Amino acid sequence: MAEHESLEYGKADFVLLDNVSMEEFMGNLKLRFEKGRIYSYIGEVVVSVNPYRAMNIYGRDTIEQYKGRELYERPPHLFAIADAAYKAMKRRNKDTCIVISGESGAGKTEASKYIMQYIAAITNPNQRAEVERVKNMLLKSNCVLEAFGNAKTNRNDNSSRFGKYMDINFDFKGDPIGGHISNYLLEKSRVIFQQSGERSFHSFYQVNMLVCLHMSVADAMKVIGFTGDEVQTVYKILATILHLGNLTFGVDGDVTLIENPKLVSILRELLSTKEENVEKAMLYRTVATGRDVIEKQHTIQEASYGRDALAKAMYERLFCWIVGRINDIIEVRNYDARVHGKNTVIGVLDIYGFEIFQNNSFEQFCINYCNEKLQQLFIQLVLKQEQEEYQREGIPWKHIDYFNNQIIVDLVEQQHKGIFSVLDEACMNVGKVTDEVFLQGLNGKLAKHAHYTSRKLSPTDKSLEFDRDFRIRHYAGDVVYSVVGFIDKNKDTLFQDFKRLLYNSANPVLKAMWPEGKLSITEVTKRPLTAATLFKNSMISLVENLASKEPYYVRCIKPNDVKSPLLFEQERCRHQVEYLGLLENVRVRRAGFAYRQTYPRFLQRYKMISEFTWPNHDLPSDKDAVKRLMQGCGFDHDVAYGKTKVFIRTPRTLFSLEEQRAEM
Ligand code: ATP
Ligand code: MG
Repeated sequence: MAEHESLEYGKADFVLLDNVSMEEFMGNLKLRFEKGRIYSYIGEVVVSVNPYRAMNIYGRDTIEQYKGRELYERPPHLFAIADAAYKAMKRRNKDTCIVISGESGAGKTEASKYIMQYIAAITNPNQRAEVERVKNMLLKSNCVLEAFGNAKTNRNDNSSRFGKYMDINFDFKGDPIGGHISNYLLEKSRVIFQQSGERSFHSFYQVNMLVCLHMSVADAMKVIGFTGDEVQTVYKILATILHLGNLTFGVDGDVTLIENPKLVSILRELLSTKEENVEKAMLYRTVATGRDVIEKQHTIQEASYGRDALAKAMYERLFCWIVGRINDIIEVRNYDARVHGKNTVIGVLDIYGFEIFQNNSFEQFCINYCNEKLQQLFIQLVLKQEQEEYQREGIPWKHIDYFNNQIIVDLVEQQHKGIFSVLDEACMNVGKVTDEVFLQGLNGKLAKHAHYTSRKLSPTDKSLEFDRDFRIRHYAGDVVYSVVGFIDKNKDTLFQDFKRLLYNSANPVLKAMWPEGKLSITEVTKRPLTAATLFKNSMISLVENLASKEPYYVRCIKPNDVKSPLLFEQERCRHQVEYLGLLENVRVRRAGFAYRQTYPRFLQRYKMISEFTWPNHDLPSDKDAVKRLMQGCGFDHDVAYGKTKVFIRTPRTLFSLEEQRAEM
């Protein structure tokens, strides 16, 4: 139906399928992929299949083709959705957001970069220096964030190991004047452990090998506005973490000691502190018992645990600090723009997709909960948006049924009885709390829940291990989680001694990253929030934020596991289509009206079909003209006339219109 698209390339919009079946959906998706058409629509949702090859569809000329156009006037493209979000923001004064989802390697981050490039390309026609500066910063910040937050995994050579939401602020002219980045749950365990074939974060290899990439990241940091001291400190922290990886402990009698004392002097230098401070923090912890404060020696296990926790915490803190510094630099500066001017926002969300691994732990649990939240939002907003449009246009609308995953969201986040609550409760217990105790807690509270089970509750299910596994029936499929490590990862303890060590550094940049190190052990009164609670809170505020904006969606699909541009693995893709809820999406869309267009635009495209409208009509309004045209074609029964738009229920009608148009 879109211009320049013929059926040779399949249907550009899945809403136009003759039958909404998985078979037809997959047939169309495959055909389009094989013909090099990597983008399709479901209404206003973009479906993207990773081409795994350079496509010549992102250049200046393509950008010009999409600029200011309506969605259906050009073949499906990310640029069209970016333009739609931009137009809504500029013309209707709406805050908008673009939510990009899909599994690892599906192409989310690449999509987010093309969207940003498009927005940068179509704005600031007057070449204002301040706007150019902001655009440059926004684009450069990606490079820095990827160096520190991305890693090579078995699924993706450049996998984002954090969630990212970026707001771009625009002034009344529609030009970018600033931005803000929020980051979510960095996979910090990667600092100390990687699956075979995987690597730690890119940044470590850049500091190690001093390759050109290192230079470019350092350059990007300097261009963005990091000072020389700051960049130096960043490299010192990376080096510290690398050296911590080599630090080992032993015993002599009942004394725990560091086996490689030379490292202590290296660490001392990198951290700008005294050798004895490093040693003490590694081997002892300060504990308050009643009124006394004592130095308690670590066992080898405790010392090793502390060392790993330090490495992870330093990296996580570094990452958050970098994001914070970028935010300082890109925040809306101009006082007038901030306070008086119209200031609208486009948000871009590039966040981890649903994960089902061989072994699923706390991280996967958090990530999959995040996807439940986003799915819930998708359901609400896609339906809500449709409903609101019909109301606005004065067209009657009846609700349609869909699987509501709120029950799974509740299972995870509900106060007192949700999984996060049970976990926090277990962590609150004094004494030795084990992961098994947590699992028993879950079994007690959730025995009757339709989406939860474990071996105790389903004794015949051999795929679940006693005292270790529980299974959640997610909207996207069943996932077995192992409770091993849940308690530790949730408590996320970093001994106060380490915080003090870093706070007492003579390096002001490092010191500033660890303000809470100021407190001595007796002054630390509050228990820090658990990882689960922090994550839950950040997800709730993310979803609130997205819900307040007009959403646009990009659903990314990974065609195969071998990064091949030729291979469309049917089963793999079908599974993704299933859990992204794409068929449901098509049904929702079709239950309403498949197509809608403003009267003037509609006439512009189809007026040649009718003698009443060609070349011009003499009816009182465009709406009357469209009515006349539709009556003449015998389509009146399939059409509703809103205040500003004509709504067509079935795709077939649109086909006929297109055919008649082509015959003219
Ligand atoms: P993760 O969740 O692991 O971060 P992701 O969804 O962000 O994964 P990307 O890093 O965007 O995945 O894409 C993975 C790789 O696929 C890219 O490095 C690139 O090689 C290729 N790719 C993705 N999208 C495109 C595209 N539009 N054109 C060409 N290649 C692409
Ligand atoms: Mg990514």
